[in-house]
Amino acid sequence: MTVENEQQIIETINDIKKQNGDKLVILGHYYQRREILTVADYMGDSFELARRAASLDDAKYIIFCGVHFMAESASILSKPYQIVQLPDLDAGCPMADMARLPEVEKAWNTITEFIPSSQIVPITYMNSIASIKAFCGRHGGAVCTSSNANILFKWARQQGKKIFFLPDEHLGRNTAHNLNIPEDKMFVWDPLMPDDKRIIANIDAVELILWKGHCHVHTFFNVEHVNYIRKNFPSAVIIAHPECTRDVIQQVDYSGSTSFIERYVKEAPSGSVIAIATEINMVDRLARQYADKQIIPVARSLCPNMFKINLPKLKTTLEQLGRYNIIEVPQSVRQDAHRALSAMLSVVQSAQ
Ligand code: SF4
Repeated sequence: MTVENEQQIIETINDIKKQNGDKLVILGHYYQRREILTVADYMGDSFELARRAASLDDAKYIIFCGVHFMAESASILSKPYQIVQLPDLDAGCPMADMARLPEVEKAWNTITEFIPSSQIVPITYMNSIASIKAFCGRHGGAVCTSSNANILFKWARQQGKKIFFLPDEHLGRNTAHNLNIPEDKMFVWDPLMPDDKRIIANIDAVELILWKGHCHVHTFFNVEHVNYIRKNFPSAVIIAHPECTRDVIQQVDYSGSTSFIERYVKEAPSGSVIAIATEINMVDRLARQYADKQIIPVARSLCPNMFKINLPKLKTTLEQLGRYNIIEVPQSVRQDAHRALSAMLSVVQSAQ
């Protein structure tokens, strides 16, 4: 796209925004392209954005610039008159797709043959499809985000329950280590080996069953990348997202959600050197926004699905408000998923 084209499209988008006023809201995830975030009304992580959408009573059209599960969550939390649209329906999340309902139900049925269902609680990461959130809602579980996973894990453990965590093995493991759950109390459930009987032999010892899913954008980072930064930028503080592998998390200075990273960079004194292991569009944007600090990527890792959303697709969506790429979640799924999201909110609220 030429610069002129980009400018023309931005003008069209801004015209449509002006015509619709508060009826239209554009949400942009932290990992979106620079130009998308320049026209977004709000920027944030998936949960902040979904909650934001639900709080804007005047907004009839909610355009979610992110991936499919995020738009689904916004739709689940939205009011009946609100319409959620995603500029590219192919913008999915491979990690969310690693936990599908039939395999998860099969795993649950096997697990609960050996652990009474009253003694285990399913918790799913926000980065999961709606039917998995609904599964958790049906079984007394909850959703969590990378910023409140510790709280949700504590909630389950205070009830004396084991945890079945979906779909990100690494976020689950890193959270468990934060809470001093030893490695030998964790078990990785591989849906490709659903009849793995090791779990049965160890059932009493296991505290946490981790679904074998991962985010390829964050597992891309490795210890050599961290060592390179330590050697070449000795004054750098290194921060990694908890979707990174345990090896990486053990080598960095801090680990935290996108909101934590955003806040850390914002509050760091001028002149700080900060190396970040998360999606490259976020790191590049922080480097531009906080030019008085040196913000560098630990390595360049791009989420190709986030990158599918671009200005032409956003413009096409805005030209067909309420008619194009609408995200609808079936009522039965919506109710149970809403229950799991609400459980998260009340647990987090009572922990504050
Ligand atoms: S960064 Fe990872 S978890 Fe986020 S949308 Fe991309 S693949 Fe999914």
